[in-house]
Amino acid sequence: MPQSSPKSYSAFEIALHNVDVAAKKIGLNGEIGTLIKNPDRELKVELPLMRDNGTLEVFTGYRVQHNNVRGPFKGGIRYHHEVDLDEVRALAALMTWKTAIVDIPFGGAKGGITCDPRKLSEKELEQLTRLFTNGIDPIIGPNMDIPAPDVNTNAQVMSWFLDEYSRRHGFSPACVTGKPVDLFGSYGREEATGRGVVIAYREAAKRFGIDLKTASAAIQGFGNVGSNTAKVLAAMGGKIVAVSDMYGGIYSKKGIDIPALLEHVRKTRSVKDFSGTEVMTNEELLECSCDVLIPAALGGQVTKANASRIKAKLIVEGANEPLSYEADEILDAKGTKVVPDILANAGGVTVSYFEWAQNLQQFRWEEERVNAELEKIMVRAFDHVWKKTEEHKVPMRIGAYIVAVERIAHATSLRGYH
Ligand code: NAD
Repeated sequence: MPQSSPKSYSAFEIALHNVDVAAKKIGLNGEIGTLIKNPDRELKVELPLMRDNGTLEVFTGYRVQHNNVRGPFKGGIRYHHEVDLDEVRALAALMTWKTAIVDIPFGGAKGGITCDPRKLSEKELEQLTRLFTNGIDPIIGPNMDIPAPDVNTNAQVMSWFLDEYSRRHGFSPACVTGKPVDLFGSYGREEATGRGVVIAYREAAKRFGIDLKTASAAIQGFGNVGSNTAKVLAAMGGKIVAVSDMYGGIYSKKGIDIPALLEHVRKTRSVKDFSGTEVMTNEELLECSCDVLIPAALGGQVTKANASRIKAKLIVEGANEPLSYEADEILDAKGTKVVPDILANAGGVTVSYFEWAQNLQQFRWEEERVNAELEKIMVRAFDHVWKKTEEHKVPMRIGAYIVAVERIAHATSLRGYH
C-alpha cells in the first residue's frame, strides 16, 4: 500500500496491509501469507421479510468465514444499514488475528444484515434473525462456526438465533455465544469486551507512564463496549470526562458520574441531557482535551481529516478499525500511542470462548472465575504484543499483527495444505 496516498483504503485493504507489514518483518514466505489473508468462504443470503404492514421486503445478509486453521470460525453478527461484503470481510479477518492474539482455539468469521434495526419492530427483528439463521445454517454449528453479538445485536437476538438453530439440530447451546445468562449464557460476557478494553488501557498506561486514576478519558459510543468500558473504568477509579452515542455527546471537566449516567441511559436510551454536563458533538469528543481516547462506536471515525487534531496521548481501540490507514500514519508520526483493536477489544471473544466451553461441558462458571481467567488471558496477550513491539521497534498494531501472523502461519504449516 503506497504511503500517504490520497486514496481511502477499504476496511479489508487496511486489514491485509498490516498482515503484509508484519509478514515482511518476520520474513514469512508468500504462499502462507496469501493463505492467511484470503477468506475461506463467503456466503450471501437473501432474506424475504414480511413486514408488519403486509408488504414484502428483501434484505441481504452475509457470513464470511475467514480462517479456521486454529479452530472453528468465530465472530459477531452486525445489523446496520452500512453493512456490506467488504466490511464483513474485514471484520472477519480481524477476528482471525484477534483469536490468535489471545490464543484461544478459534478462527475468524463475521456476519451481518444490511438493515436499519431502528426501523424494524421487535417482531420483524425476530423474524429477520430467524431468516438469517436459516440462511447461513449449512455453514454454522458448534464445531464449525459460532456467531455472537456485534453492533445492534444483543443477547435477545442471540436467543432467537439459538432457538431457530436448535429447531433444526436439537438442543445446541454452543451454536452461538453472547446469550442471556438465563439461556446458557456466561456470567461476565455482557461486560467482557469493556472489561478487556480497560485491562488493555491499564497495561498500556503502566508502559507509557500514565496514571489511570488522574488521566482523563473520552469514550465514543455508549453501547455494549462503550458503556461497559465506562462502568469498569469508573469502578477502577478512572476519570471519564466525555462520552457520546449516535445522538451526541456530553462533557464534564471534573469527570462524569458513570453509575448515575448508566441509570439515565437505562431510562432515556441516550447519554444526551445528562444533568451537570456540557453538550458536545461526536466530532468534538474525538478532538477534545483528554489524555486517553477510547473509540467504541463504529469504524473509520478518525481519518486524515481529523487525525492531526486528536489531543489524546493514547488511543485504546474499543471499536473495530476506528482509525483509517491514513489516520494511523498521522498519529504515529506525532507520537500518539495506539493499543490496536485486535488486542484491546479481544475480551469479548475471550469470554465467548468461556461461554462455548461451558456450553459444551454443560457446566457453569462463577463470575469471579470468568473475570480472573479473562484478566490472565488479556495480560498475557498484552505482554506478548508488547514484546514483539519492542523487539521489532514497530507501533503496537504491527507488534500485534506479528503475534497473530506467527501463530497462524505456524498452525498452517503444522496442519499442511489440503
Ligand atoms: P452497540 O450497538 O452496542 O453500540 C454502538 C454504540 O455506538 C451506540 O451507543 C451507538 O449509539 C453509538 N454510535 C453509533 N454511531 C455513532 C456515531 N456516529 N458516533 C458516536 N456514536 C455512535 O455496539 P457494540 O457491540 O458496543 O460495538 C461497538 C464497536 O465495538 C463495534 O466496532 C464492534 O465491532 C466492536 N466490538 C464489539 C464487541 C462486542 O462484544 N459487542 C466485541 C469486539 C468489538
